[in-house]
Amino acid sequence: MLLKDRIAVISGAASPRGIGLATARTFAAHGAKVVILDLDAQAAHTAAASLEGAGHLGLACDVTDKSACEQAAAQVLQHYQRIDVLVNNAGVTQPVKIMEIDPASWDRIMDVNLRGVLYLSQAFIPTFRAQRSGAIACMSSVSAQRGGGIFGGPHYSAAKAGVLGLAKAMARELGPDNVRVNCVTPGLIQTDITGDKLTPQLRGEILKGIPLARLGQAQDVANAYLFLASDLSSYITGAVIDVNGGMLIH
Ligand code: NAD
Repeated sequence: MLLKDRIAVISGAASPRGIGLATARTFAAHGAKVVILDLDAQAAHTAAASLEGAGHLGLACDVTDKSACEQAAAQVLQHYQRIDVLVNNAGVTQPVKIMEIDPASWDRIMDVNLRGVLYLSQAFIPTFRAQRSGAIACMSSVSAQRGGGIFGGPHYSAAKAGVLGLAKAMARELGPDNVRVNCVTPGLIQTDITGDKLTPQLRGEILKGIPLARLGQAQDVANAYLFLASDLSSYITGAVIDVNGGMLIH
């Protein structure tokens, strides 16, 4: 058990086939008490209730809303009196080209993927600092590193690249408080985020560029989050872990 009795908060973790819920399951199996945050309260509650063991929580929280993040943090702290792990996982994508990005799309993609990381982290940082311990893991993407994944437009690449900068800066600032901050950069992971865009033909083309010759599973990313959340990574901060099957080797 790598997270026995740790309190772990995961954003965007109610989606049944998503990376967030796979991470919640993995953390619960390792003994953590998990708080699932997502847009819909009932979905978050149902997801939390499905986890192994007792004492999990599901709460509504739109990460683009600063006061919602603060309220969620207050509820978590009232319930558990501490937080050990924060996974900034919530995100949305939009497969469009540069000239198709309108102001509202730019704002939506930047807000959920990047602003949300700031707001939710800010909501818990005072507690992490007071405890002088904690681990924050943030969701970026191979899209940030290679200038576009497959399903993310340029605004998605920009937002996920922003996550890398924000997380590294947080790592530097929070290191003296013994709070670690790291990122994961997944390649193409089979979840619902791709909608119905992944045709068999496109899938075949994508596979040609992946040395491990398969698409990623949510569990592949959950395992990386587990490493970053646990003491196995106790001397790692400001790092970026690729979970991409070799799609990008650099
Ligand atoms: P998903 O759509 O299953 O999960 C995204 C979750 O975020 C959903 O539960 C959704 O309700 C939630 N969410 C959306 N907006 C939110 C908001 N404003 N506040 C709180 N929650 C919100 O997709 P997924 O593939 O599991 O994505 C999880 C993360 O992984 C995202 O940040 C995504 O950008 C990132 N990612 C995914 C892939 C991939 O190939 N699937 C690759 C790289 C990075």
